[in-house]
Amino acid sequence: MLLYIFLFVFGTIIGSFLNVLIYRIPRKESIVFPSSHCTKCGHELKPFDLIPIISFITLKGRCRYCGAKISLKYPLVELLTGLVFITIFYYFGLTAKTISYIFLSAILITISFIDIEYKIIPNELILTGILGGIVFRLVMYRDGLTDYIIGFLLGAGILFLISVISGGGMGGGDIKLMALIGLFVGWKLTLTTMFIAVILGAICGIILILLKIKTRKDYIPFGPYIAVAWLISILYGCNIINFYIKLISGTA
Ligand SMILES: [Zn+2]
Repeated sequence: MLLYIFLFVFGTIIGSFLNVLIYRIPRKESIVFPSSHCTKCGHELKPFDLIPIISFITLKGRCRYCGAKISLKYPLVELLTGLVFITIFYYFGLTAKTISYIFLSAILITISFIDIEYKIIPNELILTGILGGIVFRLVMYRDGLTDYIIGFLLGAGILFLISVISGGGMGGGDIKLMALIGLFVGWKLTLTTMFIAVILGAICGIILILLKIKTRKDYIPFGPYIAVAWLISILYGCNIINFYIKLISGTA
């Protein structure tokens, strides 16, 4: 229980750092300098202004210095990161896999929020992810290597094909993102992730168009769907694959 609380708090602190990345990377600002400040009045934020989730609640969502509204996105990212971290830990325990998935989830959360707002997937984040992925593959060499290299190539290859066939419906960022995921999950779960992402994207796309939030011509970022599909895949992918195998072999 203590481990869960620790990991949740750790997740919200990482989430608070991800907020900095989400704000600064698309603006091409340095991620270490200057220290956190209010985006409206520029006042430097003190440690007690930066306690994840809690500061937002005690400040009632406003800047202590100028009263400007703080986006609900900030505590949301912190809460989400904390929840994702403990979910991964719950399923995979105290293992190297858990650490590798926690690392990837942090990258995916950052990418998703940047993709939603700016419709880009920054190369810096993909590269950081791939470097991390290579380190994890070397540390976890007992899990083998071929499976993950195939996952990497398959992720990039299939999305590249879809983008050629659909005439550019899939961005270059999505292709790189799928390759990155392949490096962490191997080829089977790469396929599952892609499959779920396409279904999620189609369902949500239709809903967004029906609710008139988006029109058919709007670009709908695909990164967040890939991220959610990845989480579903690592948690339930094996069940989905087994069900599918039974289905096609006619034993379901
Ligand atoms: Zn302010």
